[in-house]
Amino acid sequence: MNAPKCRLCGDDLTQTFVDLGTSPPCESYLDADQLDRGETFYPLHVRICSSCLLVQLPAYLAGEDIFSHYAYFSSYSESWVAHAKRYVDAAVARLDLDETSLVVEVASNDGYLLQHVRDLGIRCLGIEPAANIAEVARAKGIDTVCEFLGEATGTEVSAAHGKADLVAANNVFAHVPDIVDFARGLRALLKDDGTLTIEIPHLLRLIEDRLYDTIYHEHYSYLSLITTQRVLAEAGLTVVDVEELTTHGGSLRTWSMPTESAPEPSARVAKVLADERRAGLDTVEGHAGFAQVVSAARDDLVDFLIQARREGATVAGYGAPGKGNTLLNHAGVREDLLAYTVDRSTFKQGMFLPGTHIPIHAPEKLAETKPDYILILPWNLREEITAQLAYTREWGARLLVPLPRLEVY
Ligand SMILES: [Zn+2]
Repeated sequence: MNAPKCRLCGDDLTQTFVDLGTSPPCESYLDADQLDRGETFYPLHVRICSSCLLVQLPAYLAGEDIFSHYAYFSSYSESWVAHAKRYVDAAVARLDLDETSLVVEVASNDGYLLQHVRDLGIRCLGIEPAANIAEVARAKGIDTVCEFLGEATGTEVSAAHGKADLVAANNVFAHVPDIVDFARGLRALLKDDGTLTIEIPHLLRLIEDRLYDTIYHEHYSYLSLITTQRVLAEAGLTVVDVEELTTHGGSLRTWSMPTESAPEPSARVAKVLADERRAGLDTVEGHAGFAQVVSAARDDLVDFLIQARREGATVAGYGAPGKGNTLLNHAGVREDLLAYTVDRSTFKQGMFLPGTHIPIHAPEKLAETKPDYILILPWNLREEITAQLAYTREWGARLLVPLPRLEVY
C-alpha cells in the first residue's frame, strides 16, 4: 500500500504522531433503529511529515461529506457570538476599516460574525459551503456565496465582489483537506495590502495539555505557528502578528499580509516561535512521546472504570460532545463500563453515541438512578458543570474528569 502524502509538501507520510485506532465520525449519533445496522469506522491515525513537520490526519472522510449540510449553527452559542463581536471591534479599530472597506469571512456559518460588521456600516460578504446554513445568513441580510473556497473560487468571488481589506478564516483552516489551495484562495480574496486572520487550535496546547480528544475526522491539520507560516508562505502570505487565545483549549489567531507588503513580524511572533522551539516542535523527534502520554491516559480511565465495576459501583456520563466519542472509542468503553450519559440537547436525548452505542438520556436520569460516579466528558467545561452537578452530592456522587489527568473529586 502506498503511504499517504503530506498535504503541504507532498512527501510520503511515514511517521506516526498518534494512532487512536478507528472510530465513526464523531457527530454521527444513532437512533434506536440504527443500532442493528453496520457503522463505518475510519482510522484516526495522525501522522507527522518528516520534511515539513505538518501534523495531519489523512482525509479519510471528504470535506464535502461532512460540511455540505452541517448541523452546527454558530449563533446557538452566546459566548461564541460574543467572541466574534470582540474580534470585529478589535479588527475594525486596528485596520481602520470604514464604509469604503470590504470584509470577507470564509466559513461564515449563519452570519454570527458578519452581522457585527454590517452593524458598523461596513460592507461584508460570507462564503459558506453548507446550503442550509448559508440560507439562514441570507435571511439575516448577510450576502453569502455558497461554495467551498479554493484558488479558483477565491479568484471568481473577488472578480465579482471586489478585493477585501480583511479576510477572516477563523476556525476553518484546520478543517480543510487541501490546505494549500485553500490558502491560495484566501490570498486571491485579499487586496495586495489587505489583512488575513486565521484562528487555529494550537498544537503546542494539544500536546502540553493532552487534548487528544480534539482529534477527530473533520480536524485534518494540527498546526503550530511554525507550520502555519509554511502553509501561508505557499500562498504568498507572511504572518506579521499572533495572539494566544483561550478558545478550544488554547488557540492562535494569526494576522498575515501579502508578503510584498508585510512589515517585520511582531515580538509576539518571535515569542510563540521560541515557545514552540523550546517544546521541540521544530523537529520530528520533538513530537515523539505524545503517543505514550495518550496510552497512559487511556489506561488510567479504563483501570478506574473496571475497578468501579468490580466494586459494584455505578458510573454514568455527563455530556455527549464529539470529543467524548474520540475518548470513549479509543478507550473501548461500552455500556458495561459506562451505563449511560446525559445531555441537555433535546436533539441528542434518546439517541446513542456513535461506535460505543452508549445511550443518551435527559439530565433528570441522574437523580432517578443516583450513580456513584459521574464522568464529565466535556471536561474543558469542568468548573461550570461541577457547579451544575452540585445536587448530585446529596446522594454522595463523586465526579471525575478523564484529562489532562484522571481526577476523582
Ligand atoms: Zn510535508
